Amino acid sequence: MNNNERSYELAKKTLKLLMKHEIECHPINFEVIYNYNQGYSKSLILAVNEVIRSERDDKDSALAEIHNKLIAGTASADKVEEITSQMADEVDQVTAMISAALGNTTSYGETLGEVNNELDNTIDSTGVKSIVETLMLATADMEQNSTILESKLAASNRQIFELSENLSEVRSEARTDQLTGIANRKHFDETITAEIMMANAEDNDLCVLIGDIDHFKRFNDTYGHQTGDQVLRLVASTLGENVKGRDLVARYGGEEFAIVLTKADIKASEKIGNQIRIAVEGKELVKRSTGENLGSITMCFGAALYRNNETVEDFINRADEALYLAKDSGRNQVKTELDL
Ligand code: GH3
Ligand code: MG
Ligand code: MG
Repeated sequence: MNNNERSYELAKKTLKLLMKHEIECHPINFEVIYNYNQGYSKSLILAVNEVIRSERDDKDSALAEIHNKLIAGTASADKVEEITSQMADEVDQVTAMISAALGNTTSYGETLGEVNNELDNTIDSTGVKSIVETLMLATADMEQNSTILESKLAASNRQIFELSENLSEVRSEARTDQLTGIANRKHFDETITAEIMMANAEDNDLCVLIGDIDHFKRFNDTYGHQTGDQVLRLVASTLGENVKGRDLVARYGGEEFAIVLTKADIKASEKIGNQIRIAVEGKELVKRSTGENLGSITMCFGAALYRNNETVEDFINRADEALYLAKDSGRNQVKTELDL
């Protein structure tokens, strides 16, 4: 079987599996199951098996989560590795060039030493002339070697500079959510860990808000996944408009967002949550392709305040519990750990 035939077979198999388990065939689900069928990643196979063998009726959001965790970031991680190894190769080459040049300098030094000895023992003018010739030859050799070395080093320098530019580009890509352009889960995890260390050291207030779109499954089912994606972008930008300074807005999972609020207490966080909630509700949704008015969507938020020396899991769990309470209390609202 050639590559094309194999990919058609994989695509057919993917479609069959999606139909068998009555999972919607949108690009994210398709990509997850296609990768699953390829069978390269054990953790992906285990995660997908668990979902398709389960009776759960939110397979869609479970697959979206798997996509986020196991597929979205991995291409960038491979890229980082590739560039890092190219850089290491360049550094090896430079090292080799420098040691070759040092070898040349040694032989140049030896020539000079020999000449010096000869000078001590030479008195006639032809002897001096031949010594001068030897010196000139050795010096010309040395000059040529160092010109070659210089241009090789300059080329290597350029190469290393380009690679490091690529690397920082890929690094930032690896920390960005591809759909919405805001920070992804990985970036959020790094930031909250760093902020917790800072809060422990400096005794600052640190809060986290976890937000989740209300009845988003229903929205997707009614208007389609692509329109749902547009809404995710709109929500992401609305969140970004309502925070400032060091605060970080991230896509936490499928239709969940997280905000790290530095130097904000629980009341201030509740206020920011409400401000965002009202801003999101106020956006009039219009389907781009048809101009159809889609009404508006609402969100819930849960807020927690960091307690000295607790783990990041405990901290986020409290925000999650507050979020569930907001859902249970009728949605479109903000709850904090004080309400629990
Ligand atoms: P609740 O108010 O309780 O949060 O209800 P819900 O329907 O929002 O919650 P549920 O967790 O059942 O469904 C989440 C939905 O989010 C399911 C999935 O289709 C959708 N979703 C997750 N990731 C994406 C995505 O990347 N794009 C789109 N369009 N939808 C997504
Ligand atoms: Mg959710
Ligand atoms: Mg939801």
